[in-house]
Amino acid sequence: MPAIKFRGVDFIQFDSLLTEEERLVRDTTRQFIEDNLIPIIEECNRAGRFPRELVKPMADLGFFGASLKGYGCAGMGNVEYGLMTQELERGDSGVRSFVSVQSGLVMFPIYAFGSEEQKQTWLPAMQKGEKLGCFGLTEPGLRSNPGGMRTRARKVGNEYILNGEKMWITSGTIADVAVIWAKVENENDKIRGFLVEKDRKGFTSDDIHGKWSLRASVTSGLSMQDVHIPEANLLPKSDGLKSPLMCLNQARYGIAWGAIGAAMSCYDCALQYAILRKQWRDQPIASHQLVQDKLTWMISEITKAQLLVLQVGRLKDAGRVEHQHISMAKRNNVWMALECARLSRDILGANGVADDYPIMRHMMNLESVKTYEGTHDVHSLIIGQSVTGIDAF
Ligand SMILES: Cc1cc2nc3c(=O)[nH]c(=O)nc-3n(C[C@H](O)[C@H](O)[C@H](O)COP(=O)(O)OP(=O)(O)OC[C@H]3O[C@@H](n4cnc5c(N)ncnc54)[C@H](O)[C@@H]3O)c2cc1C
Repeated sequence: MPAIKFRGVDFIQFDSLLTEEERLVRDTTRQFIEDNLIPIIEECNRAGRFPRELVKPMADLGFFGASLKGYGCAGMGNVEYGLMTQELERGDSGVRSFVSVQSGLVMFPIYAFGSEEQKQTWLPAMQKGEKLGCFGLTEPGLRSNPGGMRTRARKVGNEYILNGEKMWITSGTIADVAVIWAKVENENDKIRGFLVEKDRKGFTSDDIHGKWSLRASVTSGLSMQDVHIPEANLLPKSDGLKSPLMCLNQARYGIAWGAIGAAMSCYDCALQYAILRKQWRDQPIASHQLVQDKLTWMISEITKAQLLVLQVGRLKDAGRVEHQHISMAKRNNVWMALECARLSRDILGANGVADDYPIMRHMMNLESVKTYEGTHDVHSLIIGQSVTGIDAF
């Protein structure tokens, strides 16, 4: 079986809905992933290794904070940003997760809620990949319900003292700074964001081992025991639970596009394999109706997912997107991608479980993507609340 090389997926001339600049971003990212990530990703996945050597080249291409304006950031439109995450995740969800966290969950809150001094200190360095960040919202006890967090900040003089634990934190041990969400005791437990540098006394981070998903991404636990930080480390415009939720909206939007990339990778691999693989009277397995039905389901769902997220992106560019629109795109597209991975794995038979092909890796990765940034079911509840007006959480 010759090596299968990705050829792109476009059934209904989707490209004609994109501007020249959008196609350029997509094609540049695609080429970068083809040249730099595809050759090493299976080794990284086996070894559980984050390909840190790609941080600088990704920064040089403007991937970090790509949709932010100023501070050296690329100022991409939302569709350009989405097409970039699509191509990153066509390579690997773990690498896309790293970029999403650096951009949507660390640079974005500094940009949206930070002081000018915080922006000047962190954003240019993070854009260049010289400084890395992580986002600490999830806790060991409470995750889908961030409002119930236990991490506390107490203002004493001109400092805050932080105590608490964060769990399942992407890039936790490689980050120079953590955006930590905590309830402020002196402000009636209002949730606010803090910048905690990794070398603060009382702050520790440890990697979570034994993950069978997102193995090319670092996932960690963070612990804070009487961590003193200056009051200048408070993100001054952070204001309650809506602030971390705004960050999650940014990241969820990127995931909705990213999942299409993983689905495209699986579908294109299965399609090429089905045409090459011969069984029964020396006919390609693609000649069987049941195999064609699976391919038809996949290309139909990928196409619908593209149209859904393109509309959400256009609404976002126009300043008219609602959080439930993003929930629908994240929920649908990740589910769709996971189903594509399972059908593609099936089409490859035994070869589908081997890492000579990208499918099983995508499938395992997508299980995390289905859970993080709001689980599939949590997004059902968000959409349900939107259409019924009734909170079912
Ligand atoms: C690889 C990885 C990386 C991550 N990176 C980060 C990160 O960088 N920063 C961060 O803060 N977090 C991160 N997370 C955490 C992630 O956001 C949480 O795992 C997620 O929010 C779900 O929380 P949980 O795992 O505790 O599940 P739970 O909240 O325990 O949910 C378990 C199940 O119960 C369901 N459920 C929960 N509440 C309800 C309800 N009201 N009604 C119906 N069903 C419900 C859920 O849908 C799910 O199916 C990461 C997770 C993973 C796996």
